[in-house]
Amino acid sequence: MIPEKVHDEARQGEALVLEPLNKITNSRKLYIESYGCAMNFSDSEIVASILLEKGFETTSDYTVADVIFINTCSIRENAEQRVRNRLKEFAVAKVRNPGLVVGVLGCMAERLKAKFLEEEKLVDVVVGPDAYRDLPNLIEQVDGGQRAVNVLLSREETYADISPVRLNSNGINAFVSIMRGCDNMCSFCVVPFTRGRERSRDPQSIVAECTDLFNRGYREVTLLGQNVDSYKWKGEEVGSQIPIAIGTEVGMFDAKSKEDLGEAVNFANLLEMVASVSPELRVRFSTSHPKDITDEVLHTIKKHDNICKYIHLPVQSGNSRVLELMNRTYDRAWYMNRIDAIRRIIPECAISTDVITGFCTETEEEHQETLSMMDYVHYDFAYMFMYSERPGTLAAKRYTDDIPDEVKRRRLKEIVARQQQHSHLRLQQLVGTTQKVLIEGFSKKSNNDYCGRSDQNAMVVFPVTENYKPGEYVNVLIDRCTTATLLGQVIG
Ligand code: SAM
Ligand code: SF4
Repeated sequence: MIPEKVHDEARQGEALVLEPLNKITNSRKLYIESYGCAMNFSDSEIVASILLEKGFETTSDYTVADVIFINTCSIRENAEQRVRNRLKEFAVAKVRNPGLVVGVLGCMAERLKAKFLEEEKLVDVVVGPDAYRDLPNLIEQVDGGQRAVNVLLSREETYADISPVRLNSNGINAFVSIMRGCDNMCSFCVVPFTRGRERSRDPQSIVAECTDLFNRGYREVTLLGQNVDSYKWKGEEVGSQIPIAIGTEVGMFDAKSKEDLGEAVNFANLLEMVASVSPELRVRFSTSHPKDITDEVLHTIKKHDNICKYIHLPVQSGNSRVLELMNRTYDRAWYMNRIDAIRRIIPECAISTDVITGFCTETEEEHQETLSMMDYVHYDFAYMFMYSERPGTLAAKRYTDDIPDEVKRRRLKEIVARQQQHSHLRLQQLVGTTQKVLIEGFSKKSNNDYCGRSDQNAMVVFPVTENYKPGEYVNVLIDRCTTATLLGQVIG
């Protein structure tokens, strides 16, 4: 399968290491490791930026750290288990160094604050995703001998003014968060509880960040949000100056009435604005929601060569009754209609998805409908999960998690097998074509090969040629493929 960047298994638990800022250091070392989705990794960069400003340095070795943070994910139960085990290892380091501050950040903070902080005493500080600006104060509180907690969720916080420092990345691809939280209430999902209400970041700060990234040599940005299609920037209030997309420019105008506010920037406008930073900057985005993705967005993708022809459109289930129980607010026919629209407007578009197997009461026939949906779409890639009941969600309150583990596992296996066939098929269809590839670096296996992604997000490996280096685009003629990778030769 094609490795994906938005939830990258290989990055789970990765430590963030940055060059120190040219400032007086406080000679304290921060170790921060992250779990979960790209949004969490992007948040760790914000946390590091806030603390670097206060004189901290980062380290990749927790045994020499003065502050250890673990940025958590609670989307499935095994993610929580992983973090608990890690905290136990950090507790050992704390015995050796009693001044060490250990903290839990992110999505697990709210739910587990009582357990980690008070009962199990595994940590000194617990901080939710909207409270990172408070970290310097909270660390001070811990230094003063107290335990510290701030898990307040905000309706406004977007960290728009904080430019994340990305010195340990490859300098080519960057994630840019365009919104936070989620207002959908999918019955299986903890995100609305852990990350709060949906709010969009102002478009000017997004365009400014992307422009800055481009000027520093980055060539690809991925715009991040739980539901990017509901991105909406309306400005603050009547009488204020609000940014608006005028063609491809960001303009300012006086909002004289509520109607003026209604005309502001939607996701299609934002895509257009970011795509206009430079034709050399590739624009990706994730995640699209089937209920909200509009033809306007699809036409915008079609119109700009540098908006990648790749859409992640989670289906979750192919059966309308299960989708209703999941509270996804679309049914099978609606989802197929959106797929048809993508195929009609952008025929070359790659499509990936998320699938959950064994949701409450799912029958064998309903599971078959997920498989038949996969046959209908022929996804290029899929994330596939067994349903994992999360405390506090609507599903946990309303329905019994009644599908036995072995049935969930068997259904997952069937879905994974089907997806492998489809991924391979989609790659085989590209053999003989020429793909424009953004070179990311040497391939994992050999320094004689470069790797990079095609516009449609397929990994492409080809022999190094002297004329090109990472960060540049090359045309690669695809001559064969494995189950996960396209292989070819540079033709210019
Ligand atoms: N906002 C995105 C959307 O609407 O599809 C995805 C958010 S979630 C972080 C990523 C994926 O995790 C979901 O699409 C879903 O497939 C999976 N997921 C979420 N909660 C889950 C649960 N309780 N059990 C299993 N998988 C889950
Ligand atoms: Fe969770 Fe649904 Fe929101 Fe995605 S859209 S984050 S699955 S509630």
